[in-house]
Amino acid sequence: MSRSVTGGCRCGAVRYDLTPDRLPPVYCCHCRDCQTWSGSAFVEQAVVPANALSITKGAPTEQAFTTPIGVISRQFGCPACFSRLYTASPSRPGMLTLRAGTLDASDAVMPIAHIWTKRMQRWITLPDGVPAFAENAPADAFAAILSRAVRGEAT
Ligand SMILES: [Zn+2]
Ligand SMILES: [Zn+2]
Repeated sequence: MSRSVTGGCRCGAVRYDLTPDRLPPVYCCHCRDCQTWSGSAFVEQAVVPANALSITKGAPTEQAFTTPIGVISRQFGCPACFSRLYTASPSRPGMLTLRAGTLDASDAVMPIAHIWTKRMQRWITLPDGVPAFAENAPADAFAAILSRAVRGEAT
């Protein structure tokens, strides 16, 4: 029996499967935009290959969002309950940024990095040993963290 990681929106109208059958590496962004956009303390994001995600129920609705620097990202969410599920951006071709809080096993997520901690809400204490960056992580440092996490979970 093939198994996959599952998730979906709050109301259940849109459901997805993610392969392979393990939680993807998740990082948290504590920036103000992410707080405002999520209506929460931070966002949990997982960067996954676009072909790893399949919609198994419903159809996400799509909105284009133009960032202040002119990048047009495609936002996918539930048309009924407005849960934002994932984003496709030309800055990450072939990849999707999944909102990890939509995973059914979101309680099992252990973030591998935190960024924009200078904007982090004051009540949060990060665990020791998890890389944290005051603003965006340098691309090479972040890539190294991601690849370590992927290798670690694959063994
Ligand atoms: Zn929904
Ligand atoms: Zn952010």
